[in-house]
Amino acid sequence: MIYTSLAGELQSLVKGSIQINEPMRKHTTWKIGGKADLFLNPSDKEDIRQAVEFAREKAIPITVIGNGSNLLVKDGGIRGLVIKVGRGMAKITIEGTSIKAGAGALLPELAVFACKNSLGGFGFAAGIPGSLGGAIVMNAGAMNGCVSDVLQSIVVLNERNQFEVLTKDHLNFAYRTSNLQSRGLICVETCWQGYAKDQWLIEQETKEYLAKRKAAQPQGFPNAGSVFKNPEGDFAGRLIEGCGGKGLRVGDAEVSSKHANWILNLGRATAQDVLILIDHLKQMVQERFGVLLQLEVKVLGED
Ligand SMILES: Cc1cc2nc3c(=O)[nH]c(=O)nc-3n(C[C@H](O)[C@H](O)[C@H](O)COP(=O)(O)OP(=O)(O)OC[C@H]3O[C@@H](n4cnc5c(N)ncnc54)[C@H](O)[C@@H]3O)c2cc1C
Repeated sequence: MIYTSLAGELQSLVKGSIQINEPMRKHTTWKIGGKADLFLNPSDKEDIRQAVEFAREKAIPITVIGNGSNLLVKDGGIRGLVIKVGRGMAKITIEGTSIKAGAGALLPELAVFACKNSLGGFGFAAGIPGSLGGAIVMNAGAMNGCVSDVLQSIVVLNERNQFEVLTKDHLNFAYRTSNLQSRGLICVETCWQGYAKDQWLIEQETKEYLAKRKAAQPQGFPNAGSVFKNPEGDFAGRLIEGCGGKGLRVGDAEVSSKHANWILNLGRATAQDVLILIDHLKQMVQERFGVLLQLEVKVLGED
């Protein structure tokens, strides 16, 4: 396809910026990934609506990403249009104990905003580097809470390319999952419900929580957090460690020696390196413990 002329046509419809052949490693925390044919940074939800209509008319596949902190993009890149719900859609406002935020705002920004406004319930969000849209898809969370505890409703672009409000009970939240993605919906706005809490107390709890995370998590190399979901009643990291998986390396992809469920990019890791390592770890855990690990990270693109 001639993406230069398509990019020009799309640019005449949207306010946000468009790139051709955009390296996806610039948009993933793993710093891995081939090029996207077309890449849109929307300025607002109307940009997304226009872009989706345009892509559907031209039969161009669409991929939506947030902050890329749970993504493995393959080395061949992504065909079609990638829409990054990010900085153009990151405004946060408050009404009483209710917070409204664009889906491109980040979880730590939501946590800081809630704290400044003396609202409790958002402590878990402080250390997770995802956008609100991505966090809702994943039902992101940590030891002290998760998205579904405090989310009230969202605005999505639906299958008919219309904006629609969905309350949280329509999202089938479960451990690290919701039905947002399987229904092909794009989250554009979010609404959260907190409760009044002393600001000083929130600050102290957040400090302690972030210090605990820092002590437990590998630092210094690009990664995507936990690679596998924890199987019920167990921890993927414990199982991988139990098979001697810590420190295993393929190319520049290495299983962290601090946390066995994290794979680090030591410099020039490719998606292929990571995928080989993932297969190897799955096989080891299955042979040793009879448990089939499920990926938490989402794999996008082609080889
Ligand atoms: C250092 C580190 C620590 C982490 N710690 C945690 C943790 O404690 N707990 C936890 O749960 N996760 C953790 N993660 C993983 C990750 O941050 C979360 O899964 C996060 O919610 C992903 O959000 P994102 O915006 O980066 O989404 P992306 O990785 O960009 O996308 C994730 C999925 O959501 C889809 N998507 C993204 N935005 C939208 C949208 N607006 N509408 C529709 N679909 C969308 C994408 O297509 C993709 O399938 C960690 C990651 C890192 C790198």
